[in-house]
Amino acid sequence: MTAAAPLRVAVIGSGPAAMYTVEHLLAASANLSIDVFERLFAPYGLVRYGVAPDHQKIKGVTRAFEPLLHDPRVRLFAAVDVGRDLALDDLARRYHAVVAAAGARADRRMGVPGEDLPGSLPATAFVAWYNGHPDFTGLAIDLQRESAVVVGVGNVAIDVARILVLTPDELRRTDMPPYAIEALEASRIREVHILGRRGPAQAAFTAPELKELTTLAGAALRIDPAEAALDPASAAEVERSPDRTLARKVQLIQEIAAAPVPCRPRTIHLRFCVSPLELLPGPDGAVASVRAVRNRLVASPAGGIAAEPTGEEETIPAGLVFRSVGYRGLPIPGLPFDERLGVIPNRAGRVIDPASGAPLPGRYVAGWLKRGPTGVIGTNKPDAAETVRCLLEDADAGCLPAPADPDPASVEALLRGRGVQWLDCSDWQRIDELERAAGAREGRPRVKFTSLAAVLEALGRAAPAT
Ligand code: NAP
Repeated sequence: MTAAAPLRVAVIGSGPAAMYTVEHLLAASANLSIDVFERLFAPYGLVRYGVAPDHQKIKGVTRAFEPLLHDPRVRLFAAVDVGRDLALDDLARRYHAVVAAAGARADRRMGVPGEDLPGSLPATAFVAWYNGHPDFTGLAIDLQRESAVVVGVGNVAIDVARILVLTPDELRRTDMPPYAIEALEASRIREVHILGRRGPAQAAFTAPELKELTTLAGAALRIDPAEAALDPASAAEVERSPDRTLARKVQLIQEIAAAPVPCRPRTIHLRFCVSPLELLPGPDGAVASVRAVRNRLVASPAGGIAAEPTGEEETIPAGLVFRSVGYRGLPIPGLPFDERLGVIPNRAGRVIDPASGAPLPGRYVAGWLKRGPTGVIGTNKPDAAETVRCLLEDADAGCLPAPADPDPASVEALLRGRGVQWLDCSDWQRIDELERAAGAREGRPRVKFTSLAAVLEALGRAAPAT
């Protein structure tokens, strides 16, 4: 590449994987230009719409992302949907490389009868709702029930359980939208049951997140000591594990189980070796309870330890059920997709043709769309570094297809011609200032805009014709 012909990269998404991709690209080469395409009106994806609103320290990672969007080599095209507003071919004509970093915004299913009853929701939807995600502000969620069940024992399940029991004082310190604060303040939920299908040694949550459940002002955490005990195979697994955080996590679970349960208005019951068999409706047709079975742990033929139903059943009252059994990526039209794994097939971030296994020139993937929905925000940094390394190696080797129309103005002209009203970095800066100012007036980190129409109005722009 010469100074006259910078490497042009389109990044789809603006969450952590996308922003770390931008960071690594900027650090590696001066002679490039990066356009970031974000479907929503605000950047940062999972940080803004997935990280729990009472975890502002984690959301603070955006302070490292802000300067990237202000770099003169980077342009933000927010409120532009690749797939709807732009086709992959439109990008291929204008960029040497396209990096898909759009995350995993769909949910996985439990596969049990009654899963679609009213009141049974993906945790992903609830998370998006309490984070003010514009697609989820209208989610029907009846918090006038007394008991909720959360299926799965990952960190998302812990987030969901915690948010359900925050006190009004704790809620008002978050950046949750007013509708969510009001609904949660008026909530009548008293019992939250988190169901892990396997044992304490196989729980996916991390110890700090569990520990936080013991520090809540309005809720106690209860773990049955019998369920906290390890079977011999799990005990051996913990003993063998080179990861000492596992032993510490199991120890924490057992300490909580052994400690007296403090008296609080609400209780979170963390259960192990229990699986839902069926969600049962009440007289109003909405979910009212979960028929569940106790599991025993057995050696899995695939390796590791699996849950096997014992036949011993129980019924758990549940006016709300949140399945928190993992996120799933969604396809991007024009790129291959592995439906089974919910990822874009790739080798180290190079998108591959699933039929031939050959890399598709100029196509890359990073983050949850590349490796599946695992890891914390920081995991995306080395993940993006790997993808960027492949991209730059291919650029150096002359393997990137030359774009037919590399003029940076061309994509703007295309969007304008299609009547797409995008928001750029200065628009985002203004939105950010307005949100923070509204938050400061209420002693909160920010008050988010939750619709494009409200954002456009605040920016003094007319809404696009639909
Ligand atoms: P996760 O960590 O993969 O946990 C998914 C849970 O669902 C596991 O306990 C899994 O159990 C269970 N599960 C899967 N299928 C099931 C089924 N059919 N029936 C019952 N249980 C089932 O996923 P996640 O909680 O969605 O989190 C995604 C990623 O984001 C994780 O890496 C997480 O650590 C991260 N995250 C981090 C934070 C934080 O750092 N504070 C907050 C939120 C999320 P098995 O193990 O038995 O399959």
